[in-house]
Amino acid sequence: MSLNLWENLIVQERAKLALEKIFRRNAYPPALIFLGQKGIGKEAHALAFAQSINCETKNFNPCGKCFRCKNVFNLLSPDVYLLYPVPTSSTERNLSIKRIEHILEKKNLIHISKFNYQKQTKLPSI
Ligand SMILES: [Zn+2]
Repeated sequence: MSLNLWENLIVQERAKLALEKIFRRNAYPPALIFLGQKGIGKEAHALAFAQSINCETKNFNPCGKCFRCKNVFNLLSPDVYLLYPVPTSSTERNLSIKRIEHILEKKNLIHISKFNYQKQTKLPSI
C-alpha cells in the first residue's frame, strides 16, 4: 500500500481538479466543504488534499515518503484535524467515540491509524 493517499482512493476527478487548481494558485479559502453522497470519498479526498498541501516536496502529488506525508497518512499531523459532532455527556461521548471508530473502520481508515482522541474537538450537535 502506498502512503500517497491519492493513490489509495477512487478519485473524483472533478473534485481533484478543483483542489489542484486551489493548490497551484496557492490561494486557499478559509474553509473547504466536501459535500456529496454517502460513500463517494469526501473524507478521503480531504485527507489526500491535506497530504498534498503538507508534503515537503511542495507538489500536488505528494511523495508519500516524507515526515509530513507520513504524519498525515497516520492521522498524526498537528495541522490536520478530523472534526465530527460529539455529544457533550460523557456516556454519549464514549458511545460516540465507538461510533466514530466504527465509521473509520468501515471506511478502512482505522487500519492506518488508531483514532487520535487528543485531537477531538467538541462541536455542537448538528
Ligand atoms: Zn511528502
